[in-house]
Amino acid sequence: MESKRGRLDRFLCKALQLSKKQVRALLITEQINVDGKPAKQMDLQIDEFSHIQYKSEDLQKRQPIYLMLNKPIGVVSATKDDEHSTALDLIEHPLKQELHIAGRLDLNSSGLLLLTNDSRWSSYLMSPETKVDKVYQVELNNPVDESYIEGFNKGFYFEFENITTQPAKLEIISEHKVLVTLKEGKYHQIKRMFGRYRNPVKSLHRISIGEFNLQENLAPGEWSCIDQSEISFA
Ligand code: URA
Repeated sequence: MESKRGRLDRFLCKALQLSKKQVRALLITEQINVDGKPAKQMDLQIDEFSHIQYKSEDLQKRQPIYLMLNKPIGVVSATKDDEHSTALDLIEHPLKQELHIAGRLDLNSSGLLLLTNDSRWSSYLMSPETKVDKVYQVELNNPVDESYIEGFNKGFYFEFENITTQPAKLEIISEHKVLVTLKEGKYHQIKRMFGRYRNPVKSLHRISIGEFNLQENLAPGEWSCIDQSEISFA
């Protein structure tokens, strides 16, 4: 989802149905406040959560929402689905219709799912440039050995996308259990990576995205709010 940034003058022309000249006059006479302060610049960059007022009347006032859900197996990482129940069906929040998912999980994967109405945050978490770590607990049908570590680190060529996967970290916990850290999220990525060893994934559970760890007290299907003070974009 793209972040919605733009110029203040464009927003005001549209919101108040005014010409650029009329908007300039409002700014010069300090009739527009952005986040509690008079705004003077036509090209001031605003986003979907900037609080914008005209003579103390709210033109835009939106509350960013951040949630974590422990996604159960069998629930679709989507906001709508005709066949299965969705992540959104599990959430009771007055603004839930505004939410989108920051990083999907497959139907038969479980664990940490982040939801928000803040596209700046979801874009930051999911952008290939920011390389935010996503950590998964993976259980395999067959035993793993040390050779997997190098394979995951080197990357695998995925013909369909014509890409080589970025270096991924694999830590062996026991014969059939590993932790995998990815910096990206290609379609069925972990299953396809283990597919190269003909080793089917038995279960896949995401435990963290960046600094956000799945809270231990969240049972499958439960969710909790993340406080705005915990959100950063760097
Ligand atoms: N890799 C997968 O194969 N599935 C997921 O749900 C996440 C990563």
